[in-house]
Amino acid sequence: MARHRCRFCARELDETFVDLGVSPLANSFVPPERADAAEPAYPLHAYACRACGLVQLPQFEPAACIFDAYLYYSSYSESWLRHAEAYAAEMIARSRLGADSEVIEIASNDGYLLQYFQRAGIRALGIEPAGGPAVAATAKGIATRTCYFGRDTATALRAEGHRPDLIVANNVLPHVPDLNDFVAGLRILLPETGRVTLELPHLLHLIEGIQFDTIYHEHLSYFSLATLERVLRAQDLRIFDADELPTHGGSLRLHVCHDASPHQPSPALGRLRRREAAANLDQPATWRSFREKVAAKRKAIRDFLVTAQRTGRTVLAYGAPAKGNTLLNYCGITRELIPFTVDRNPHKQGLLLPGTHLPVRDPRALVAARPDYVFILPWNLKDEIIAQLAEVRAWGGQFVVPAPMLSIVS
Ligand SMILES: [Zn+2]
Repeated sequence: MARHRCRFCARELDETFVDLGVSPLANSFVPPERADAAEPAYPLHAYACRACGLVQLPQFEPAACIFDAYLYYSSYSESWLRHAEAYAAEMIARSRLGADSEVIEIASNDGYLLQYFQRAGIRALGIEPAGGPAVAATAKGIATRTCYFGRDTATALRAEGHRPDLIVANNVLPHVPDLNDFVAGLRILLPETGRVTLELPHLLHLIEGIQFDTIYHEHLSYFSLATLERVLRAQDLRIFDADELPTHGGSLRLHVCHDASPHQPSPALGRLRRREAAANLDQPATWRSFREKVAAKRKAIRDFLVTAQRTGRTVLAYGAPAKGNTLLNYCGITRELIPFTVDRNPHKQGLLLPGTHLPVRDPRALVAARPDYVFILPWNLKDEIIAQLAEVRAWGGQFVVPAPMLSIVS
């Protein structure tokens, strides 16, 4: 068996967090004409480092393969746009940003967030490795560099005179293969008086909410506050404030500064540290209990779908998010059980989901089919989706949500 090392502290990884079997890349949608072609699949086996607590998937192939066919465009989710707009307004106030300020966002996607800073008259620059979203951002008038972030990019930007008051690195750290290089880049680019915000799903919620489907190959690291503080401290950065957010099933927004900056640690940060310590996130017994719950959840999902089929009830899925592919593949769902899914993103429509090959159709196909159950794969957006599909209830249909366990929304 190949030996893997922790991407932060380099200790050998010998403790399983959860093993979800073998799965294709969650965003490698299959064109129908390639349905019979071999599909590469990789182990989805997460480890926990006993030295630093970092839960992680070992890197298995170059990051470029993941991003080449990236179909996730942030602007297709309305609630995500509202989250971005609220974030911009809050940060403009908290960091007192004005016409002389600069904001740099790492992994800026299609400019979904920077547009709100730019509208407020603040200079904005995006760093985005995926070509498609970067082109979309540039078309909107948002300056964007198509590259990865790390020491080299940070050094180049600094040499060009960039001194960002705010560096936004929201929902990017979990995707970064070379964690220490990325964090070192933040340290280089951040002025003494500046602030970095990191948003990331919180390991506490992954464990407590049995959110195993948030584990997929593109998502390499799963952070607790304690682990992230270790990672930042190694580069002379520190967290001084923490907000808890409902996004992605429970996220943290961490405010980061230079070690020598005058920012005082907030009371919220202290509270969060204590709550984490009480949850024993770094204990093998906690990981074992999580694995047992994951297996029970898989059984509950399969039992529901098999029973629905046996009793003549139809189930269709809503959404084609990365997490849906982990769930469907790990639970062994086939088109017999769920004939197709629908998604508002036209770039995904007409393609097949990786592994399970469920066809992705226009949401109108779901309405036309009038299923008994709508299985919501992006459960973190369930309120928005249920509101958009109000007609489902008119024909007596019900919504099924796989979080934390499987439940029917009445
Ligand atoms: Zn480690």
